[in-house]
Amino acid sequence: MQQLDVHSDLTVVGGGLAGICAAIGAARQGSTVALVQNRPVLGGNSSSEVRVWVCGATAHGVQHFARETGIMGELFVENQYRNPEGNPYYWDLVLLEAVRAEPNITLFLNTDVRTLATADGEITSVTGWQMGSEKEITFHSPVFADCSGDGLVGHLAGAEYRTGREPRSEYDESWAPEIPDQNTLGSTILFYTKDAGEPVRFVPPSFAKDITETAIPDRRVIRTEANGCSYWWIEWGGELDVVGDNERIRDELQAVVYGIWDYLKNSGRFDADNLTLEWIGAVPGKREYRRFVGDHVLTQHDVLGQAEFEDRVAFGGWSIDLHPPGGVYASERGSKHWHPDGNYHIPLRSLYSRNVPNLWVAGRNISASHVAFGTTRVMATCAVLGEAVGIASAVAARNGLTPRQLATERFELMRNALRRADASVLGVVDDDPDNLALAATVTASSTYRRPAVEVSAGTMPLATDLAMVLPVDPALDGLEFLVDVREATSLTVELHDPLKPQNYLPVELVDSCSVDVPAGEKRWIQVPLSWRPEVPANAVIVLKANPSVSVHTAETALPGMIYLAHRDPAPDEQYTEQFREWKHVLRRAGLCVRVTGESSVYSAEKAIGGHARPYGGPQMWMSEDLAWDPEPTLDLTWPDPVELGEVVVILDDDVEEDLINLHHHRSPNEILPTLLRDYDLEARDASGNWAPVGSVRANRRRRINHVLDEPRSVSALRLTARATNGAPRAHVVSVRAYRP
Ligand SMILES: Cc1cc2nc3c(=O)[nH]c(=O)nc-3n(C[C@H](O)[C@H](O)[C@H](O)COP(=O)(O)OP(=O)(O)OC[C@H]3O[C@@H](n4cnc5c(N)ncnc54)[C@H](O)[C@@H]3O)c2cc1C
Repeated sequence: MQQLDVHSDLTVVGGGLAGICAAIGAARQGSTVALVQNRPVLGGNSSSEVRVWVCGATAHGVQHFARETGIMGELFVENQYRNPEGNPYYWDLVLLEAVRAEPNITLFLNTDVRTLATADGEITSVTGWQMGSEKEITFHSPVFADCSGDGLVGHLAGAEYRTGREPRSEYDESWAPEIPDQNTLGSTILFYTKDAGEPVRFVPPSFAKDITETAIPDRRVIRTEANGCSYWWIEWGGELDVVGDNERIRDELQAVVYGIWDYLKNSGRFDADNLTLEWIGAVPGKREYRRFVGDHVLTQHDVLGQAEFEDRVAFGGWSIDLHPPGGVYASERGSKHWHPDGNYHIPLRSLYSRNVPNLWVAGRNISASHVAFGTTRVMATCAVLGEAVGIASAVAARNGLTPRQLATERFELMRNALRRADASVLGVVDDDPDNLALAATVTASSTYRRPAVEVSAGTMPLATDLAMVLPVDPALDGLEFLVDVREATSLTVELHDPLKPQNYLPVELVDSCSVDVPAGEKRWIQVPLSWRPEVPANAVIVLKANPSVSVHTAETALPGMIYLAHRDPAPDEQYTEQFREWKHVLRRAGLCVRVTGESSVYSAEKAIGGHARPYGGPQMWMSEDLAWDPEPTLDLTWPDPVELGEVVVILDDDVEEDLINLHHHRSPNEILPTLLRDYDLEARDASGNWAPVGSVRANRRRRINHVLDEPRSVSALRLTARATNGAPRAHVVSVRAYRP
């Protein structure tokens, strides 16, 4: 046996999505990182060993403009390019390559951390056993990140934690039980089937469960076409000790899986003769165990109230998604869901231990109540928390701060670092004093100023109320819709304020009108609604249902515009995943609509400072049609020359498009059409000469860093868009400029 010592700036234990993003986040800040993972592959529950699909703040389209940016965003975009059909092995590769691309990370696979050493209440090292190599490795670093899901590191270090469910009285959470208990969400084993092309037998093992003696056939959906995560409900062990009883739980889950398979193959109720088992998980996917206690415990109120934390470092959007303790045998529904009205924030104070001063935590073990954990636990959210912890660990170390000091005394350092990394935060404007672009005047060769979609692709009866989200800057002074009217009628149209910049539902009525429309086809009707919000904001325009009216639809929509149809859900739909009164319609398409007058929604100024993601509007510059301005330019001009060392260009990767393809969701484009494909960047020196800074071809990424070989004194910077990946106009989310 060999004994090794590894010294780094940060040790990350656990190579699930939280750990991967923590390691990459810190490495990109310049920290050396040991990433220690006890499985042979990266990805945790998302890996090919478990095959849970990566969900996040988009909540399968319930939330809008909500896809994560930062490292998780890069992983989504890369996976969509390499793996649009969602092959679990290709996903493993995407993760492995992302880690290997970082020279500051040393990856230790198959290395199970088992013990640790402390001094004065701080962790000094953790030690793991590398299976297959007979190595005992001790990892030394000034700070540690517990991203192990189960939280063994924090537990061994004496960090305070919770398991089970808090009583309702503790945080006044309506979804918490009256009496506290140790129930958690249980674990799951998934399976995949394939058509063998000819009849194949299945002889069940002696331990297969006879599921006809359980509530499973009545209460759960079993279908021959189902695979993988469709069987998320094969859950058990929530009433046991999910870790201590892991072996027993695995045995029970395997018995259930083979019992379900026996039922499918041999009960005679399914057309399954040609089906065979292609894959069955050997490692139970664990949902819940320790939740560490930080300086803030995120609660149901924070999530549903979308609390505006000063120290926000990430956002989520999944429903509070809780499961009955009995799991697969429970007679209740397998899950209940409560969606927030839009994305909610997560504070840095929930990402470190309150009593072990050098311990960061990220993933399913953060400081949250059981109820709030029900939403933060999805993997893209775990990933953005990981990135925040990675960045925070480096920023704190650079400035000699503890996690608590960074969160409560010097949070501006963290905010700037998050923004610079293009991390997934909402509602944070770029006021970074290091960003030279903020002092520049910005102009564009053209700007899309008269929002209009005029080419009809068909009609849709106005059978229910139909809402259109319309970004407004600075004011709306009427709009027109293209309609067919069967018989003369009066159409009611309302304008609502969604009240929060990340929400897209009609909440507060601002204006309404009734428009008399004569019978006829293809008529543009004037809707005299007006609104001048205090700051640029989204309006939600609601066309009230009218049996005499059909609206014309279009194959495209403008950035920032989405459509929702009203429905009256059945009372028993409440708290199901499908429950929502306004359902997204006309995905990637829209209505024929013209906005009266000019709009500044897509002005060049949006690419400087701002939010770098949709927030009360799309927050980007958009040129006129390329047919009219084929190679649009965006210019930054400084009153006095600046010393330029680096330019960061952030392009539009269309965060409305859900890229969750690891199970059954599919997205049509391997490369997002809104991304610029080719562009050139030039700088002008004090004598007026232009020289290249960078030339990008065949781009498929959102963020491109241009580090200059040598610093240059420049008075202007120009981005020339040469081609998009399919969008009819050039989009630029942000241009940032930094000193060397
Ligand atoms: C069946 C199931 C269905 C789910 N459904 C969804 C869903 O549809 N979408 C979604 O996004 N989320 C879903 N979740 C939740 C999600 O999978 C977890 O919350 C998420 O994986 C947590 O991420 P993580 O990085 O914190 O931990 P994990 O994914 O658990 O990763 C932690 C990693 O650390 C490793 N590790 C643990 N201990 C040690 C140690 N001592 N030394 C070294 N390494 C260690 C583990 O092996 C693991 O690989 C589901 C979970 C399950 C089980």
